[in-house]
Amino acid sequence: MKRRRPRLPPTRPLGRIASHFTKEGTPKKAYRTEREARSAAQLAWTLEKLELNSYRCDHCHDWHIGRSSRFE
Ligand SMILES: [Zn+2]
Repeated sequence: MKRRRPRLPPTRPLGRIASHFTKEGTPKKAYRTEREARSAAQLAWTLEKLELNSYRCDHCHDWHIGRSSRFE
């Protein structure tokens, strides 16, 4: 799924990469392109009326979708 996987120390503070993880602490689903992320967000809206934002992740450099208003 990922071409590049930089090796990161396990002590890396979670706060800096919080946008990479769900509230449950598991990694979010990553999308390779903004277009994929947006279509997934649109699907969530269609199916569940969830308004999601797509954003580029600083941690894995893929795209995620989430409900946080910080990414609007
Ligand atoms: Zn990520």
